[in-house]
Amino acid sequence: MLPGNMMDRPLTVPSILDFAAEIHGDARVISARVEGDVHRYSYADAHKRVSRLAHALRQLGIKDGDRVATLAWNGYRHFELYYAISGIGAVCHTINPRLFEDQILYIVSHAEDRILFLETSFLPQVEKLADRLPTDLRYVVMCAAEDLPETALDVLAFEDLLKGQLDTIIWPDLDERQASALCYTSGTTGNPKGVLYSHRSTLIHTMGLLAVGQSIGLSPERSLLPVVPLFHVNAWGLPFAAPLVGTDFILPGARLDGAGLFAFMDEEKVNTSWGVPTVWFGLLAEMRKHGRKPEGFECVLVGGSAAPKPMIEEFEKDFGVTVVQAWGMSEMSPVGSVNSFYARQRALPEDDRMELKTSQGRRAFGVDFKIVDGDGGRLPHDGVAFGELLVRGGAVMSAYYNDETATASAFDEEGWLKTGDVARIDPEGFLFLVDRTKDVIKSGGEWISSIDLESAALAHPDVAECAVIAVPHPKWVERPLLIAVLEGGANVTTEELKAFLGDRVAKWWLPDDVVFVDALPHTATGKLSKMALREQFSDYTLPGI
Ligand code: ADP
Repeated sequence: MLPGNMMDRPLTVPSILDFAAEIHGDARVISARVEGDVHRYSYADAHKRVSRLAHALRQLGIKDGDRVATLAWNGYRHFELYYAISGIGAVCHTINPRLFEDQILYIVSHAEDRILFLETSFLPQVEKLADRLPTDLRYVVMCAAEDLPETALDVLAFEDLLKGQLDTIIWPDLDERQASALCYTSGTTGNPKGVLYSHRSTLIHTMGLLAVGQSIGLSPERSLLPVVPLFHVNAWGLPFAAPLVGTDFILPGARLDGAGLFAFMDEEKVNTSWGVPTVWFGLLAEMRKHGRKPEGFECVLVGGSAAPKPMIEEFEKDFGVTVVQAWGMSEMSPVGSVNSFYARQRALPEDDRMELKTSQGRRAFGVDFKIVDGDGGRLPHDGVAFGELLVRGGAVMSAYYNDETATASAFDEEGWLKTGDVARIDPEGFLFLVDRTKDVIKSGGEWISSIDLESAALAHPDVAECAVIAVPHPKWVERPLLIAVLEGGANVTTEELKAFLGDRVAKWWLPDDVVFVDALPHTATGKLSKMALREQFSDYTLPGI
C-alpha cells in the first residue's frame, strides 16, 4: 500500500459546533421551554454555554469514556449537553422517558451512568424510581435555581453549574473512534439494547444527510423543527447536521400535539419538520381545522414507519407541503435512505410520482444495501424480488454495547447488519419496504404486506388510524385482521370498509375481519405497536372459524 500524504485529523463532534459558531454564528436556535416561554439565541451563543457546561462537567469529575445521561425534551439545554458531554470525551446517553420504568432502571445501570440530567417535568418520574436507581448517580435538573421544584432528591440546578465558568474551551485531543453517544433501542422482546455511536460514525452520518441536504430542509437561511426527539437516536442526526449547514434549529419542547405544534410552527414560520407518521396525523387534523398549513411550512420528512399514501397526497395536493420519506434504524445512526426527488422524478406523471413517493428512498451516502432470500443468497435489485434487507456502512453499528447475546444474532456471515425489514429495490435504487419480518402476513405460502393494506384503508375518509395484523387460520395459516380507529362521529361498517378495499387491493389480500377500536397502542417512539396489538388480540378468532 502507498499511504496517502494527508494529515490525519480526527473527525470529531465538537468540531461541528466550533464551525457553526464561527461560520453560521448568527443562525438561530429557538426553544419552546417547559417553563412556558420561548428561548432564543444563536449558534455562537450556544458555543459559549457549551464551553461553560463542559468545564462544569469536568469539575463534577466526568472523565473520558464516562456515561452521562439525559432525560429531556427538545430544547437548547439538551442540545448543549450533546456537545459538552461528547466534546470532553464522555458519552451522551439519551434516555427515552416513554420507556417503561423497568427499562429505564435497566439501561441506567447497564450504561453505568454517572450523572442524570433531567428536565423539571420528569422530576416526579425520577423521584419515584430514585430508591431503585444507583446510589452514586448524581442528578442535575435542567433549570435555574429559582425554578427548582421542591424535591427530596439531592439535586443541582443546571444554570448554577454554568456560573463562573469560562465561555471558551480548547477541546481535548479525541480519537475519532471513541464513543460519543449511546442510545438504547427498546426492541420488541428482551431487554433494551445499546447502540454506542462514535465521533467518526456521527460525522459520516452527518455527511450522508448533507449529501441530500437541500431536499430535506438542511439549508442555510431556512428553519427546521425536529419533532423527532433528541432523546432518541440523536433526533435522526439533526443536532449535528443543522448547525453544520447553518439551518435555524427550532425546538418544540413538550409542544408535540397537533394544536401545540401547529401554533408553534406558525409563530416561528418553520420551513421543514421531521417526525413519525403519528405526529403528522395530529398536525394534519389541525391543518384541516384551520383550512391552511402553518405559515412558511414547505417540507415534511416522514420516517420511523411507512408514510401512508393518503397522508402523502394530503400534504402535497391539499396543502402544498412536499413530503420526503426516510428509512432507518437506531443501529444505523439512524438514517439509511432518503426519498429525495430530482428533475427526473419530479417530471413523472402525477400518479407515478405519487406512487414513487411511497418508496423509502435511495441509500444514504456511506450505506450499502443487499436483499437476500431465506438462505442468505443475494436477490437482484430489479424492483420485483423481495427479501430481508441487510446493510453495512461507516455509521452502521458493529455490535450492541456490552451485549454478546443480542450481537450474536444481529449480523450475517459477511458481517452485514440484519434489519428485520423485508424489501424490494428497483434498478434506480429506490427501496420499497414490504413489511417488517415479524409483521408480514403469510397466507397460503404468499405474503401480504400489512403496510400496503394499512395505506389502502387509510384512504377511506372516515379511517383516522389503522393497523393490520396476522391472525391464525386453519387453512391459510395466517390471514389479515384490520383494526381501525374511526374519525370522531363517523359510522362505517365492516362490509363498507371491505367493499372500499376491494377496489384497491387484490381479492385474496382483503382482511377477513375489521375490528373498530377507540385507540391503538403506540411504542415509546410514537410508532404503532403491533406487538401490543398482537397481545391484545391473542384470543381473537376469525368469524366462522
Ligand atoms: P425505534 O427505536 O425508533 O423504534 P428502530 O430502530 O427500532 O427505531 O426502528 C427501525 C425500524 O422502523 C425499521 O427497521 C423499520 O421497520 C421501521 N421504519 C423506519 N422507517 C420506516 C419507513 N420510512 N417506512 C417503513 N418502516 C420504517
